[in-house]
Amino acid sequence: MGGDTGIREGSLQAPSRHPLDWRSAEFNDPKALEKELERVFDICHGCRRCFSLCNSFPTLFDAIDASETLELDGVDKKVYWDVVDHCYLCDMCFMTKCPYVPPHPWNIDFPHLMLRAKHHQHRAGEHSFRDKLLSNTRGLGSIAGIPVVAEIVNAVNGTKAGRALLASTLGVAASAPIPKFHSKSGSKRARKLAGRVSEIKPTDDTRGKVALFVTCYGDRNEPHLPEDLTAVFEHNGIAVKVVAREKCCGMPKLELGDLETVEKYKDFNVPQLKALIDEGYDIVAPIPSCVLMFKQELPLMFPDDADVQAVKARIFDPFEYLMLRHKAGLLRTDFKEKLGKVSYHVPCHLRVQNIGYKTRDLLRLVPETTVDVIERCSGHNGTYAVKKEFRAASVKIGKPVVNRVQTADSDHYSSDCPMAGHQIESGLSTPREPEHPLTLVRRAYGI
Ligand code: SF4
Ligand code: SF4
Repeated sequence: MGGDTGIREGSLQAPSRHPLDWRSAEFNDPKALEKELERVFDICHGCRRCFSLCNSFPTLFDAIDASETLELDGVDKKVYWDVVDHCYLCDMCFMTKCPYVPPHPWNIDFPHLMLRAKHHQHRAGEHSFRDKLLSNTRGLGSIAGIPVVAEIVNAVNGTKAGRALLASTLGVAASAPIPKFHSKSGSKRARKLAGRVSEIKPTDDTRGKVALFVTCYGDRNEPHLPEDLTAVFEHNGIAVKVVAREKCCGMPKLELGDLETVEKYKDFNVPQLKALIDEGYDIVAPIPSCVLMFKQELPLMFPDDADVQAVKARIFDPFEYLMLRHKAGLLRTDFKEKLGKVSYHVPCHLRVQNIGYKTRDLLRLVPETTVDVIERCSGHNGTYAVKKEFRAASVKIGKPVVNRVQTADSDHYSSDCPMAGHQIESGLSTPREPEHPLTLVRRAYGI
């Protein structure tokens, strides 16, 4: 490739990402979209580096290889939409594989092209009731988290008959892990532990007090997560304040292409987070996808919104924050309990934050602890793994991770993404629960 055209394979410059021009006529023009899908798919066909990342690329390449022409022009356009449906916007093709991302003149941003196509599907009303329901995480949590209702929902979801009903009515795969609901919310549990730090110690990189964006999942499905985060942070002299009111970060709606609802959530969350930043807080959230939403997706959707950019600058992954405190000599290392061998899975939405292996680094500070890092997709990916039509593909994608955990003979297995943890759990032949890294660190401290 390249030659006389002056176009080089790859680029010597750091990848950059163009803002998402989602309100423009071009972005929303079906003909322009089809033309761009053709252009990019043809380049991907000639490249094929991403064949093993997910099921989008094999769907495309298999269709080309089965066509009469053995080229993209021999593929039925319907296949384009299968490729789109198999993409769960993990960003791995852009961040880790593609040599043609900007500033390369071919300007390939595969995930954002998929997002554009999903937005088209959304506007055309092509998403099912199930898809809309599953992406309404806060609404689901506030209803299913009501006392008694939570117990009933969990009990029904725990039975074969309940799962068969979910499969036949909503298309939720019977073998997929689905979250439990809790009536005692994560925000309540975190608030109980917060507010014990009297002396705030800022460093060059951190302000020493954080506002905790609890997240939908942290509030109703894994309420111990915000609690563990608060315990660990306050134990290290970092004051925690729970954000007073929050809506979903918007990631599940983004994955559905519903950019208008993403904007509504942004309009609710960002002013509050910005006000907390103005009061001197940094922001943390216990779920990598939610942090990524504020760090990357919203800033690309709203490049001219100064408040969005301010939140981007001061939101942190929890382990990124703790390791910055360690760099300044402010992290306690007087651990009381060893952890032994930990199989640690790095979720895609953490990998694409480009912050390095901060969770691994912190776990390694615990005496008599070894960490086996597993850097592959678990196959969960938002709601992909729970949809009946994608369940088999998601299991296949996550199989290498499950095998690594299965054969590791470790004392614990863990992922920063609790959904990925449960996806691994669903594939193990001997039942065993995942333990989040924040939970492990809290235990190691003996607090
Ligand atoms: S963003 Fe992720 S799921 Fe989508 S095509 Fe790229 S690697 Fe596959
Ligand atoms: S996204 Fe980039 S690296 Fe992946 S197949 Fe397409 S051109 Fe190749």
